[in-house]
Amino acid sequence: MTVSHWRRSFRGPATLDVGVCVIGAGVCGVSAALAAQRRGESVVILERHTLASGASSRNAGFLMRGAACHYAEAVELYGRSAARDLWRFTEANLEGLRREGCEVLASYRRVPSMLLALRASGTGLRPVWLPSAEYASANRAGLERSLTLMREDGLEADWIDANSGHRPDDAAWRSGLVACALVNPHDASVNSYELMSMLAAKLKAHATIATKVASPLVENQEVFAIEPQGQGQGRGFVVRAADFAVRARHVLVCTNAYASLLLPGFDELVKPRRGQMLALDAQGRTLTASYYCNDGSEYFRQAADGTIVVGGCRTYFAEEEVGFEDRTTASVQGALESFARAMLGYGDEALPITALWAGTMGFSPDGLPLIGPAGGGSSPWFCGGFTGHGMSMGYEAAHEAVGAMLEGREPMFSIARVRT
Ligand SMILES: Cc1cc2nc3c(=O)[nH]c(=O)nc-3n(C[C@H](O)[C@H](O)[C@H](O)COP(=O)(O)OP(=O)(O)OC[C@H]3O[C@@H](n4cnc5c(N)ncnc54)[C@H](O)[C@@H]3O)c2cc1C
Repeated sequence: MTVSHWRRSFRGPATLDVGVCVIGAGVCGVSAALAAQRRGESVVILERHTLASGASSRNAGFLMRGAACHYAEAVELYGRSAARDLWRFTEANLEGLRREGCEVLASYRRVPSMLLALRASGTGLRPVWLPSAEYASANRAGLERSLTLMREDGLEADWIDANSGHRPDDAAWRSGLVACALVNPHDASVNSYELMSMLAAKLKAHATIATKVASPLVENQEVFAIEPQGQGQGRGFVVRAADFAVRARHVLVCTNAYASLLLPGFDELVKPRRGQMLALDAQGRTLTASYYCNDGSEYFRQAADGTIVVGGCRTYFAEEEVGFEDRTTASVQGALESFARAMLGYGDEALPITALWAGTMGFSPDGLPLIGPAGGGSSPWFCGGFTGHGMSMGYEAAHEAVGAMLEGREPMFSIARVRT
């Protein structure tokens, strides 16, 4: 959304004074606000639409260990100890959400997630998602190598081979498409909007702002400027939104994919990438795990009410699936439908689709989160760039960002590594 000159130049009557102003009410922003409150700070979150209206309620709800790539690839990209730390970080993310109480949510499922290698197709015409022989064998080899490295690094993981580990009760394994799986045994899944509602309900109004706003989460307030103010000990910021000017000692921008709309120089740091999904009223079909296949290009799982959600296929239409536009497209949805039909055994039956949707992810240059001062030095801080895995990283990353920002220390996943 753009902001007109008239809204920018209007100075509304309400001024809030807080310790920490968080911008954006997704999983990262709400977790950051909770972390700051628990450190005794007065906090306000300014959200341009409503709670979790960005990616945090549009995702697949995997609470999965790991990152966009498999472990062996992460070792190659980041080095052995950084890969292990990243996997541990995502385990800690799930532990943190469990401590918040997510296990009592109606939609929460303690269910393993599996990284699948699919069988290769024969020659000739094949759907975009069905692997070539070359890709299928590289994919399998990558997962096998990941299993070895993970076990060596003390990360629990299992292996299932379609030839020996037949699972007749599971639609995906029955499809005949799956060759093998690397299993994360302790993962979970959840309705992400239910999770977000639970986290937001834990926010407490602080006495200093309670007379001006009923809740620390202030919705429908698009931030359009962050201005530095004061010097030395009295240094801080004024954050300007439609009806509020917030004076804050610290500002944490948690707008993920939308970062470049507010922060100069972020066009290259966080790139908006669209992800699309569909939901099926999958009565009579069962999935015993949450599945991630073709290196995460396609993913699907069963919700607690039996619905199966299927997402992905963006990589085959990568040039179209960029930017901020919230819409589904015939090309990606067509590919998703063909994938769902084959993987879940619908054959020529009509697919019982109940919802189609899209969401915008923020991709960082190296696939790792970005935390730290957005413009270096004493600028506002940023936390984001979760590259499609923010439900599995955002809670923990927000805690790291708040801790480092308030303590004045270098954060893990420092943004300085990608700044030129
Ligand atoms: C289709 C899809 C499937 C996914 N599946 C998974 C999954 O299964 N597991 C997983 O771990 N991750 C998944 N992800 C990724 C995950 O959803 C995101 O990484 C995560 O939600 C990012 O959280 P966030 O809080 O950083 O950003 P968001 O949730 O996008 O929140 C940013 C917020 O900032 C607000 N905002 C933006 N600009 C402003 C402004 N100027 N002023 C005020 N507010 C502003 C937005 O309205 C938004 O509410 C998926 C994403 C998509 C799109």
